[in-house]
Amino acid sequence: MIYLDHHATTPVDPRVVEAMLPFFTERFGNAGSKHHRFGWDASDAVERARKQVAALIGAGPKDVIFTSGATEADNLAIMGVAEAIRAKRDVSAGALAKPDHIVTVATEHKAVLDPCRRLEQNGWRVTVLPVNRAGLVDLSEVIAAVTERTVLVSVMAANNEIGVLQPIGEIARIAHARGALMHTDAVQAVGKVPFDVEALDVDLVSMTAHKLCGPKGVGALYVRRRRAEVAPLMEGGGQERGLRPGTLNVPGIVGFGKAAEIARAAMPGEAKTTSGLRDRLLEGLRSRVDGMTVNGTLDARLPGNLNVSFEGIDGEALLVSLDDIAVSSGAACTAAEPSHVLVALGLAKDRALASLRFGLGRTTTKDEVDYAAVKVAAVVSRLRSMSPVGGARRL
Ligand code: PLP
Repeated sequence: MIYLDHHATTPVDPRVVEAMLPFFTERFGNAGSKHHRFGWDASDAVERARKQVAALIGAGPKDVIFTSGATEADNLAIMGVAEAIRAKRDVSAGALAKPDHIVTVATEHKAVLDPCRRLEQNGWRVTVLPVNRAGLVDLSEVIAAVTERTVLVSVMAANNEIGVLQPIGEIARIAHARGALMHTDAVQAVGKVPFDVEALDVDLVSMTAHKLCGPKGVGALYVRRRRAEVAPLMEGGGQERGLRPGTLNVPGIVGFGKAAEIARAAMPGEAKTTSGLRDRLLEGLRSRVDGMTVNGTLDARLPGNLNVSFEGIDGEALLVSLDDIAVSSGAACTAAEPSHVLVALGLAKDRALASLRFGLGRTTTKDEVDYAAVKVAAVVSRLRSMSPVGGARRL
């Protein structure tokens, strides 16, 4: 079985496993225990990991809040900013322009879109911007959407289905010009492409360990302290500057730190290798298959992403036939429901369903991509020959 689904998750790097193991057994302390060596040891390990994660995004360690993953980080950023503003707004009587507006984009992950929808149900106004055929948001549309009532602009750095990279620095500038905060879900970008909170001037950044060869169930939210006010979603023990109470997942956090350290050192070389393999896969497919289009621009894209759709193919039959290659047709896509990202790009439903997302990563080899190109081409050709429509078109 060949694994080409690194946007869904990644295998944990053995060096990360090795770093984590002692924190399950002999170094099992609670990072919140202030009165003995076990607690101090765990706390030191957490602070080391905080520095490692912060270094990956050019941040100060104090601005990194550990969470259970990026879904929680996205929720904390969006609902937390809204709650902090609401609390202030309610006491500032007579405010002329009520801050009650959030701007996001149609191709965001559900971890962003769903909290925005929840806020909308609670009286917030939410603008969901479209993307063009390339998958990119138009900056003039951002300028038109952001007003003095906008509190937050949330746009992902790299898309998890089509891999396109949004112009985050430019969008942050537009948000700040109107006094809004800038959040970015950078789950797929960090550790894969250069990402620096100072260069981009962002205020809130969501990350997760399991997309960069770290463990599942641990992530972080970067919160620029002097600018972004965030209210916690839960009350409890006051950990993580009171923003994320609860006993810290010390082994997971140590693993995240190690994964971040490895990714930071490996990124330039890895990005080159992975994009080379991705281009090889694309060429391998193009030379064998007609009626195939690449979804999203190739000009600003994650090195390990390829998303293609095929004319005249039943999407479900395609996935079922690829029995020894782990790929997906998008995030949480079902036969009845095409990917909201591909639909936002303007693809018709059947075309969106006949799409494959390839996610290449640290462990991907040349032989694997060569095998995948041959296999996918053979399956597409067989399915077309079985379909009267496809056969007639000689695709
Ligand atoms: N945001 C993006 C862009 C993702 O790709 C994912 C992963 O599926 C998430 C958020 C959710 O991350 P987690 O699995 O850590 O909750």
